[in-house]
Amino acid sequence: MSERAYLIGWWIQSEDEEIYGPVSRKTLREFLRDEVISRNTLVRHCTEETWRPAADVPGLLEGVEISEAAPVTGDRLADMWPSRRAEQQELAATGIECVRHRRPAVLVCVRCHAPYCRKCQMKPYRRPYYLCRRCQANMHNRRVGAFMLDSLLLYICSLLLVGGSAAVSVATDALGEAPVVVMQVIYWGLTIVFIVRDSLFFGAGPAKRLVGLRVVKASDGHTPLGHGQAVVRYLPFLIPFVPIIEIVVAYRDPLMRRWGDRWAKTRVIDSPAKLARVRDKTGRQLADKGNEPMFSDESLAKQATVDPFARFAE
Ligand SMILES: [Zn+2]
Ligand SMILES: [Zn+2]
Repeated sequence: MSERAYLIGWWIQSEDEEIYGPVSRKTLREFLRDEVISRNTLVRHCTEETWRPAADVPGLLEGVEISEAAPVTGDRLADMWPSRRAEQQELAATGIECVRHRRPAVLVCVRCHAPYCRKCQMKPYRRPYYLCRRCQANMHNRRVGAFMLDSLLLYICSLLLVGGSAAVSVATDALGEAPVVVMQVIYWGLTIVFIVRDSLFFGAGPAKRLVGLRVVKASDGHTPLGHGQAVVRYLPFLIPFVPIIEIVVAYRDPLMRRWGDRWAKTRVIDSPAKLARVRDKTGRQLADKGNEPMFSDESLAKQATVDPFARFAE
């Protein structure tokens, strides 16, 4: 594994299930040599979902002198992990620089593929997020914006239709209950369209399409959500105050799910075109600084994309 992405951004799970990191690949090797961790300690790269024993990471043990007597399982992370920020940073840093700051990069973002520093890391730091803070915020703002835009669209449509039908009923001098029934039909019809707007338009309602977002099934990470899932996603909006909580929930979740997404087993991700533009931009930023992209291998870059991210579970 000569990919630059794998030189940084490793999380370690201690035996008591605490998560430590991020650390560089070099630190992982030193930890193995110094028996801070063992061959069976679980590690995970920040762009991947699965934890695996350190020994299963290709090439990680190569050239590391591990004594015969070294324990095969267990770790001493609880004792050895430094409490000082600067020391933690030293364990994570290599020569790779953050794409946005003059600081050492410690993680790689699954979305923009940029190496990023602690300043760009989502908080709380101990929680392993997949996206850099900028990407997490960007996705989140576009989602909230898209929701507001769709709501506005719904409002305008209902005004037009209600106004139109009122004008018709006045013009034809319709009497009695008929106009009220028409209003009811319009109201419910529009509400239903609003609820299933994403599934109706193949994964992205008008506003989501505009901002380059789509809703997919978590089961495969690319099929647009179904009508049933759209209805389940909408359920939290029927509970008072929950919509406001949902805004925070989605932002704080490493997989960017709000409750509706958890219940419906859906994820909101970038459209392929939007994602390609984001990656291109990072590539240019890295090149401007005279740096190589984090992934040179096309297939490895694909593995660390948002399609698998959309399938990740907890
Ligand atoms: Zn990012
Ligand atoms: Zn940074």
